[in-house]
Amino acid sequence: MLGISKEDALEYFNIQNELELKKLYDKANQQRIKFFKNKAVACSIISARTGGCSENCAFCAQSKHSSANVEFFPIVTEEEIFKAAQVAEKNKACHFGIVTSGRSINEEKDLKIICNAIKKICSELTIKPCASLGLLSENAFRKLKDAGLTRYHHNLETAESYFENICGTRTYKDQINTVNRARKVGLSVCCGGIFGMGESLEQRVEFLATLRELDIDSIPLNFLNPIKGTKLEDMKDLSPTDCLKIIAIARLMMPERTIKVCGGRETNLGDYQKEIFAAGANGIMVGGYLITAGRSVEEDHNMINSAGLEI
Ligand code: SF4
Repeated sequence: MLGISKEDALEYFNIQNELELKKLYDKANQQRIKFFKNKAVACSIISARTGGCSENCAFCAQSKHSSANVEFFPIVTEEEIFKAAQVAEKNKACHFGIVTSGRSINEEKDLKIICNAIKKICSELTIKPCASLGLLSENAFRKLKDAGLTRYHHNLETAESYFENICGTRTYKDQINTVNRARKVGLSVCCGGIFGMGESLEQRVEFLATLRELDIDSIPLNFLNPIKGTKLEDMKDLSPTDCLKIIAIARLMMPERTIKVCGGRETNLGDYQKEIFAAGANGIMVGGYLITAGRSVEEDHNMINSAGLEI
């Protein structure tokens, strides 16, 4: 097994001293350089169906259980998905995620629209389509794979021991089964979660260790951006140093995996965003998130370039 032990990871999470922190980031950066040299990756998403979700994820403004003001929009058209993929390709993203709200999707009508969009993207663009459509059957995964999909995204969200505090409408087993079903049909998996939802340092380690045990290919790290109306609206648990530590420890636990910094980057890291690569990340999401805007793509490209990296 590559990567540091859970015990070492916990020790790193407890570092307070500036000099020791610097050493931690340097170690993580060396691993990033070893496996990714001066290359960074960017990915982009479209919210292909928004809001109206029956699940009760505590962080999510798209849940019907939240009082956040997110309007429901049913599935967009194949053409809208394709156009968004063209924009993502222009923005130098390597993967384009088609994301839908909800526990799952309608495996007839909605899946057909998504499969057709995937076919068109694969035949006319170089960007790789990815999909994040909730809990799916093996049959649905096969249809996606046959349409040309190579990667499925499904976040576990947090550690198993903390999951019931975050979501009560599905089990951790449902989450892991979905990851395994995607794998079974030959899809690579992008799977991470959200930090800063009240989990302990031990649970951060537990969560990263689960991602490592599942042998996840690409790991999106999100930092909670508390949205008014959600159960976690008052949670403010992360400092920029906490975020950089999470990135560095994720890198040291999974040195050869893609580690991308996604949602909550702007709000939690502020001016420290430019440090994420030096702390071990090798990718970011560009062009905005599901229901919150990100920075301009140009700012993100400049940040990557000034870190001495190429997309
Ligand atoms: S995270 Fe997904 S499944 Fe959970 S409430 Fe939001 S849209 Fe629904």
